[in-house]
Amino acid sequence: MSTTLARRLTLCLMVPLVLSGAYLMSADAESKGDTMEQSVSNPSKNETQISWEFAKNNRDLIEFCTLVCAADVDRHLATQEQLERAARGLRDLCVTKVYLETYRSGHRSQGPILRNAKEFFLKEGFDVGGCITPTAGGDFGTQCSGSHSWFCYSSEKTRTDLASLTAYTATLFDEIMFDDFLCTDCQCETCRQLKGTATWPEFRIKQMNEVSREFILRPAHEANPDAKVIIKYPQWYDNFHNLGYDARGESDSFDYIWVGTETRNPDTQRFGFVEPYESYFIYRWLGSVAGDKTRGGWFDVFDCIPRVYVYQGYQTVLAGAREILLFNFYHTVLEPETEPLMTAFKENLPRFYDLAKLVRGKVPRGINAYKPVNSDAANEDFIFDYIGMLGIPLVPCCEFPADARSVLLATHAASDENIVREVKRHVSSGGSIVATPGFLVALGANADIRALFGYSGMPSEEEAVKVTNFEVNGTTCMSEKPVEMVLLPEPLGASTLVSGLLDDGDKVPVLSVKQTEAGGAAALVNLRTRDTGGSLLMDRPVSFLKLPEAAVNKIRETVLPPVGIEMTAPARVALYPFEDHFLVLYNYNDHSVSVQLRLLGKSAEATPRKLYNPWQDQEISASAQNWFEIQLGPDEIAPFKLR
Ligand SMILES: [Zn+2]
Repeated sequence: MSTTLARRLTLCLMVPLVLSGAYLMSADAESKGDTMEQSVSNPSKNETQISWEFAKNNRDLIEFCTLVCAADVDRHLATQEQLERAARGLRDLCVTKVYLETYRSGHRSQGPILRNAKEFFLKEGFDVGGCITPTAGGDFGTQCSGSHSWFCYSSEKTRTDLASLTAYTATLFDEIMFDDFLCTDCQCETCRQLKGTATWPEFRIKQMNEVSREFILRPAHEANPDAKVIIKYPQWYDNFHNLGYDARGESDSFDYIWVGTETRNPDTQRFGFVEPYESYFIYRWLGSVAGDKTRGGWFDVFDCIPRVYVYQGYQTVLAGAREILLFNFYHTVLEPETEPLMTAFKENLPRFYDLAKLVRGKVPRGINAYKPVNSDAANEDFIFDYIGMLGIPLVPCCEFPADARSVLLATHAASDENIVREVKRHVSSGGSIVATPGFLVALGANADIRALFGYSGMPSEEEAVKVTNFEVNGTTCMSEKPVEMVLLPEPLGASTLVSGLLDDGDKVPVLSVKQTEAGGAAALVNLRTRDTGGSLLMDRPVSFLKLPEAAVNKIRETVLPPVGIEMTAPARVALYPFEDHFLVLYNYNDHSVSVQLRLLGKSAEATPRKLYNPWQDQEISASAQNWFEIQLGPDEIAPFKLR
């Protein structure tokens, strides 16, 4: 990595992560060419490009944006030549909106340069917004006592500096984004005193709500009544409450919300083995909290290779984002080392637009995954992302879904004080449940909840085992690597459909299901991730993605019928079903896979039916039993419509 790049990563990221030398592929991409106007009715990769005019005319479908960090405003937008170069580079990426930063990490961009850049981009036909990144540096505010570059928000200096910066930024822009450092882990003496007997999460949530209202939103709106202030949430949603992000309170206070969909490389430790499904999950979960205020997604180039960079784009589009910010201007336009990423991005542009058109306004289907706002995950941090990667489609929700046919309940759901009542109501009306050991253990004191899954005694989550041999339908199969699970006893009155075979001859249930009196099913899937604690990141990959295909198929076969779909496929093939028999499949494996898919229900089963893939102009006929046989290439994403 070049020293320039290393410096910029440090400046722009400002989180204490080890910078990997394997950050980017070598620049061996084709040179940038002129773009051509192209319809997106049947977009094919590698052959066509979208023009900037097309992008401008389709901003209601997707608007690609970027952010110029404060130091880069001064360094790269100071002269007419630099501005013209920037505009050319942004047009080449179909970026039509530019956020200009007034402050980051102690650096304030110079007013005359900022104003001139704003006028230039507006004159050139770009949309322009402002941005503030609340990271410590120079004489701004007071840094928190922890190792991060966040602020201490008990400090009067932080509060007054923030208020005057926000007011100043609001005099320049009608839209102001707050980058995702609006959080704290400060434990200074003042913070300790103010916290009193509250927990740190309680104290921080209360404090950050107050700071947002009084020292960000009030000064912004007083300085500019038209100002819309945006809170951009980081991607680490299961730790929000620990560090002061309150998805409910702040989404209510701010004018809009943006969502971090920066999953980066799932195969490396640098950003915690985050799987691509997380982008989709977090965006739709925050969407369930903030509704129409949910405006955009945001991802970056860090630790990306081209296929991973493209994942982030597709996930953000699938999740329904109207604005997509490519962080940041320097890395996307000026940094030569990212050219392979940008080439891959441009190749996929026609399909980003087409996919946005295909999913816009369509209701997603799946198992309702319940994560209450500010709920703690304990040993199941980010478990939803990994369950999605098993090809189990999820519909994230922040409130117990009243009319759902099936609900996924992990540890998170136990933080709902009415959860037992909700579960009983759901089950008695014929609803089904998919639960994790964390949920069972958290509610283990309740005999009715235990009985649902066939447990009379209080289960413990303490003892974990690693399993390599599995039994599915009486047949033994092996996982590629050991899979960690909880040493649960056999349930009573439930069917164990997948077992783990232990060295001592004992078995551990991996999937058990018990029918309910009202006609639903209560399935317990022995999956767990881990507690990321204060580190925010996973320290190793989640092992259950290595479950053998037969076990994954059995889990899907058991839990998917309420969604109206059956599917067999290996892990890391994700399924995104929508209403009207429209669905998207994404193979995240680096090899080809076979997928068998069957759509259930009267209208889907009426024969003859065909699945049509508009991107391949390919029609697949169903077998006599209505199964569709689909081949997906490495990293292939494919939309299908039943017709
Ligand atoms: Zn403090």
